[in-house]
Amino acid sequence: MNPISSQSPVEIVARLRATFRTGRTKPLQWRTAQLRALRAMLVEGGEDLASALHADLGKPSGDAYRTEIDFTLREIDHTLDHLHTWLAPEAVAIPPQLGRDASAWTQYDPLGVVLIIAPWNYPAGLLLAPMVGALASGNAVVAKPSELAPATSAALARLLPAYLDTAAVALVEGAIPETTALLAEHFDHIFYTGNGTVGRIVLRAAAEHLTPVTLELGGKSPVFVDRGTDLDVVAQRLARGKFLNAGQTCIAPDYVLTDPQTAAALEAALVRAIEGLYGTDPATCGEYGRIVNERHFERLTALLGSGRVVVGGGSDRASKFIAPTVLADVDPASPVMREEIFGPILPIVTVAGLDEAIDFVNDRDKPLALYVFTESDTTRRRIAAETSCGGLGYGLPVAHVMVLDLPFGGVGASGMGSYHGRYSIETFSHRKAVLAKPLA
Ligand code: NAD
Repeated sequence: MNPISSQSPVEIVARLRATFRTGRTKPLQWRTAQLRALRAMLVEGGEDLASALHADLGKPSGDAYRTEIDFTLREIDHTLDHLHTWLAPEAVAIPPQLGRDASAWTQYDPLGVVLIIAPWNYPAGLLLAPMVGALASGNAVVAKPSELAPATSAALARLLPAYLDTAAVALVEGAIPETTALLAEHFDHIFYTGNGTVGRIVLRAAAEHLTPVTLELGGKSPVFVDRGTDLDVVAQRLARGKFLNAGQTCIAPDYVLTDPQTAAALEAALVRAIEGLYGTDPATCGEYGRIVNERHFERLTALLGSGRVVVGGGSDRASKFIAPTVLADVDPASPVMREEIFGPILPIVTVAGLDEAIDFVNDRDKPLALYVFTESDTTRRRIAAETSCGGLGYGLPVAHVMVLDLPFGGVGASGMGSYHGRYSIETFSHRKAVLAKPLA
């Protein structure tokens, strides 16, 4: 049992702040010990977490390991390998007026007590990966998993206190009332992953305490498919990225922009690619996930009428199954194009060419990710120069999240701030300016 589950948010934050003040979390040794403990938790508790993820999202075990458990292990190992270097003070040049004996440098300080609020779609990975950065930076941490993935939330509430230093790390389960109560407290940083509506609530609550925030939000991540690309390769990579976790991935390709001729050929290639991944009856394929709950199932099935069904279109309410679906002839004003889909529906919208595609993207919120399939360097350069997005992928959707030396985060409506690897240290630390001049 979680020994602190009976404490109120006020008591939890006060207790963690008292711990932080003792300096306990600051030494490198404490930080690396926590990361190693988290590592042990994932190795020894991996099967527990994988079965919880299956209960919550029908997540195939392979995906649970690849995208959450092993994913976090890689983040831990990368951090353990480099933390010492990342934390090293950095000397900077000083102006001559200060004299030759003066020196100046920056050093990373922990922020204090940080709050991490996670969503349901990768409910273990998106709680633990930011926690790696928060602990590595020497902070005390309050972790709030998503109530919409209750089995994973319960598994984490069991596992975390058994491995981590409970004087400095607390997990609070619960839904809106519990999160609201937490948000009333004074944290030194809030790291929120989820939708923009709640992102605004978090930002407003943080403003009361002048607490800095990282918002990892979502939105519609577009794909541009150029003329003359190998559409079988495009379709295979698109389908893998889109239908992973039944489309419930923040950086999943949301919709495809392409010219009418390419669209026709891409439709056929996507049919082949989906069959190659999930067979002719994805409902019986063990490698395909389910929709998280009834509300999202209803929301998604209502979007199936937004275009001509090329493949898929079927669903089963009892098991919350929605087939991998491609919609063609989709009107940009149709419901499927008015919200983040966050499910296994891929609309194809036709445009005349690159100019119109760039305008289409720029007319909408800045996306979390933008994907481009092209053989043309000019097209690559133009997309990079003329659009803004959190992350840009040429030829391969979703995979940039695996590159731990890249910052992961959004821009504009898709979020603010970033993390992974050394960017997590930037996020969860204060870079302190220091000047020193000898007295004599
Ligand atoms: P969710 O409903 O689980 O909400 C996330 C968290 O917010 C939960 O812990 C929940 O308890 C809390 N919450 C919900 N309502 C609240 C309220 N009124 N006040 C305070 N707290 C509240 O998850 P979600 O938002 O449905 O997640 C899906 C969204 O997250 C999508 O838009 C997706 O694109 C985005 N997302 C982004 C990333 C990223 O890394 N940028 C990753 C995953 C998901």
